[in-house]
Amino acid sequence: MNLGLENKVALVLAASKGLGRACAQVFYKEGANVVICSRSQENLILAKQYIENKYSSEKTNKIVPIVADLCFEDQISLLVEKTIQEFGRIDILVHNAGGPPSAPIEKITMKDWDDSINLNLLSFIRTVYKVLPYMKKQKFGRIIAITSVSVKQPLDNLVLSNTTRLGVVGFAKTLANEYAKDNILVNVVCPGPTLTDRMKDLIDLTVQSTSKSEEDVMKNWTEQIPLGRLGKPEELASLIAFLTSQKATYITGTTIQVDGGFVKSSL
Ligand code: NAD
Repeated sequence: MNLGLENKVALVLAASKGLGRACAQVFYKEGANVVICSRSQENLILAKQYIENKYSSEKTNKIVPIVADLCFEDQISLLVEKTIQEFGRIDILVHNAGGPPSAPIEKITMKDWDDSINLNLLSFIRTVYKVLPYMKKQKFGRIIAITSVSVKQPLDNLVLSNTTRLGVVGFAKTLANEYAKDNILVNVVCPGPTLTDRMKDLIDLTVQSTSKSEEDVMKNWTEQIPLGRLGKPEELASLIAFLTSQKATYITGTTIQVDGGFVKSSL
């Protein structure tokens, strides 16, 4: 299926690793020009090389790394400005960011709340405000927010994710309603347990803090998933590529999980 993503410009946030990098990879493969951001130039260069090495040198589309810490509004502004300087437009925005810490409510401090609201909710709102004028002018835009299955089913010890990410869903749905007239389509995607560096760290932490083996910790996750395994980053990226493609021109305002059946509610 030709997704019609050739020569589109995709800005993918928090893309040096994991889910963000998998999205950048699929956009590059489909012929889009891709801007990737994270806090470390070194990690961004590694991500760019990792993606380029997977495909032939005949590709003419580009991957441009731009350093930005999404905790800071001025860095988000610069990131958007530099993307416009490089390509003159932004067709696709994929919002992603580092995940909040995991702990029971009584261990979460007010600073943790401020940090998580800033990184997981406000950075989405701030980026959208910067990108919208360009998308409105183009009469074309695709916005995707990567959240978590926590928006469908609260996860134990993840009150920050359970709370801040619902704000993302509320903002995204309102955006979808207000900007459909400008051909700007907005959707939220919700990864379930997916084998990225973050997930590997979570598994290592659990092994260290309990007497369980790595195998038992993995089993604890996979037993909750009807498909019986963790997801692969490219499985989420495939949905995002489809939702931003010319094949998904009537889908907006949705919140879709990619979780092997992890969420137990009907909707
Ligand atoms: P990861 O740790 O593998 O990658 C996170 C990326 O975010 C890295 O590129 C990192 O450099 C970047 N980043 C972190 N903080 C940043 C900041 N302040 N500014 C710019 N870049 C920043 O994580 P992942 O597993 O790919 O997860 C991505 C998001 O999806 C997280 O919010 C996570 O909570 C969420 N999520 C992941 C899973 C999973 O199982 N992997 C499940 C549900 C939700």
